[in-house]
Amino acid sequence: MLLAKFPRIQLAHAPTPLEPLSRLTQLLGGPKLWIKRDDCTGLATGGNKTRKLEFLIADAKAQGCDVIITTGAVQSNHARQTAAACAKVGGLKAVLVLNGAEPAVRTGNILLDDLLGAEARIVNVERAGRAKAMQAVADEMRGKGHKPYVIPSGGSSPVGALGYVAVVQEMLQQSFEQGVNFQYIVAASGSAGTQAGLVVGAEVLRTGAKVLGISVADRTPDLKANVLKLARQTVELMGVNCPIAEESVIVHDEYFGEGYAQPTPGMVEALRLVASTEGIILDPVYTGKAMAGLMDLVRKGRFKKDDNVVFVHTGGVAGLFAPAQVESFQSRHAKARV
Ligand SMILES: *Cc1c(COP(=O)(O)O)cnc(C)c1O
Repeated sequence: MLLAKFPRIQLAHAPTPLEPLSRLTQLLGGPKLWIKRDDCTGLATGGNKTRKLEFLIADAKAQGCDVIITTGAVQSNHARQTAAACAKVGGLKAVLVLNGAEPAVRTGNILLDDLLGAEARIVNVERAGRAKAMQAVADEMRGKGHKPYVIPSGGSSPVGALGYVAVVQEMLQQSFEQGVNFQYIVAASGSAGTQAGLVVGAEVLRTGAKVLGISVADRTPDLKANVLKLARQTVELMGVNCPIAEESVIVHDEYFGEGYAQPTPGMVEALRLVASTEGIILDPVYTGKAMAGLMDLVRKGRFKKDDNVVFVHTGGVAGLFAPAQVESFQSRHAKARV
């Protein structure tokens, strides 16, 4: 049945709660906003990558691999969750190829990478050079007699995307139990795996819900092409007959500001507002910008008052404590409030 044929190791505390954002809904004047708490997946401060890693790590184990190589930015939530998954499962060494500059202090996610026993290698390459840098590490590991498994940036392979097909399945059940019919699912979109999985889940399970991806780094044509390609590959991997139409991939690229991880006034406002009205902490790189997008779309009348809109909290709070991010709440954006 659908996902049961794929190897999977349970890593997430699931089902994660699906809760109303009552005070935020009231403040913004509708639609009815809900939150899917995938920041509570439980693995070393949680987040969305845990969902993908349930399938990816199981695939690596099934292939007899003993080293997991993956990549991301220095503050990668994906790298941190991969490190934790390897620690928990055992018999897997995690090598994290992180691109960027060596920080003055290793705080936030990269501090956790170290605690989790992973080897974090900071490499001086651009985002485009990550795949090659991982291949070099894979060759090195093979030379030492290991069998490496390479996970692409963000865990966004068809196997990884299955994690978010599973989340739609979980939300469908919760929607039934709670008697709430959702019209929209809104999530931050970076390396395409989360959105692709959500789109495939929404289509294959005939939910009738639309998925809105709020881009955190790329312009709409690029991200949309990535999501569409990955969604189609995922459907093929699943072996189901379900064509994914271009129209089912909806991307908003007007909320990431100057670029990936660059703070915006909207992000600062979203973090302050959601924290102070709901007691929920968003992150500055992904969910803060996605929530800023959702709030803007609400204010612009994108939804009907009685629509039910679920925001997927994909985690990332550890990244809030990176020095560059902490600063944005204390200096130039500090006064951004509603
Ligand atoms: C990686 C990440 C995302 C984006 O997920 P993709 O599958 O890469 O699009 C969103 N939120 C957080 C906190 C993340 O770490």
